[in-house]
Amino acid sequence: MIKTISYLGLGTMGRGMVSNLLKAGYKLTVWNRSAEKCEPFARKGARVAKSPADAVRDTELVVYSLSNDQAIEEVVFGTKGILSGIKEGQIAVDMSTVLPAMSLREQEAYAKRGVDFFDAPVFGSKQESADAKLWIMAAGNKAIFEKVKPVLEHLGQTVHYLGKNGNAAAMKLVGNLIVALELEALSEGLVLAQKARLDLNTVMEVVKVADFRSPLLVSNGQNILKRDFSPSFALKLMLKDVGLIEKFAKSLHSPTPALRVAEKNIESAVALGFGQENASALIKALEKETGVEVNGR
Ligand code: NAP
Repeated sequence: MIKTISYLGLGTMGRGMVSNLLKAGYKLTVWNRSAEKCEPFARKGARVAKSPADAVRDTELVVYSLSNDQAIEEVVFGTKGILSGIKEGQIAVDMSTVLPAMSLREQEAYAKRGVDFFDAPVFGSKQESADAKLWIMAAGNKAIFEKVKPVLEHLGQTVHYLGKNGNAAAMKLVGNLIVALELEALSEGLVLAQKARLDLNTVMEVVKVADFRSPLLVSNGQNILKRDFSPSFALKLMLKDVGLIEKFAKSLHSPTPALRVAEKNIESAVALGFGQENASALIKALEKETGVEVNGR
């Protein structure tokens, strides 16, 4: 049974996961580029490492959730990166959203050191991470997965095994394609409702119960009506993911025409300065274009 874990990347997602691992009784070592984010966990008994290589010393499982390819490049492959410290028999789990090709590159590099690797991205956001209610997918060696699964079950409400490495990363991109189009649909719908002078709170009451309802539409719709764009999933990360989805779909000659429309609006909203806000801020591009503000107050 796994008892010791290294966790690298204490961003929006990582912080919730580390809190839950500490609550579950695991012995934790943490590392984050901006060291101050380690302090609350040091107070709860976690060891704070000086570098990624130092972080993976003497633990059974190494888990990380990092922004993008560049972060993986530096934290995993860089000097003093995970690969320079990890030892045969340890297990590595990447919970970031990356291209399946990146997962395969990681897997290959770890295999050379006798380390089993899982791509294990998640659905859910800041709240689900804090509440251990994420929806987790994992891909890699099935026998080793059985060892890792009890740890992941402390982080999420579901854990799906997807088969060979790269498959969980691919599933994440499939899901985020749907998420991006849901946010585009919600934004277009709410702007149209505003222009039609419908009562927006009643609109959301209908969205909440109708046969096209989804938790994502409800939470984002309600926050848009409150003009609350505090980030759970930053718009700039959504733009990064859209780029990954397009690259992935292109490599398989799979069409994504609607995604290009959503991408244009996300790019416009980022260009307007809303990249650090929640992904729902994509509506601000449509609001600028139409001269309306969707407001339920
Ligand atoms: P975040 O809050 O922006 O945190 C990103 C983390 O990556 C931070 O720890 C950051 O360190 C680190 N980082 C970034 N660039 C780095 C670099 N060059 N070198 C070392 N560390 C670096 O992001 P998040 O929302 O937690 O997301 C993490 C991953 O999960 C992303 O791949 C995202 O797409 C995915 N994801 C997010 C959500 C969500 O709702 N937020 C949902 C599902 C999946 P600093 O603290 O020093 O900046």
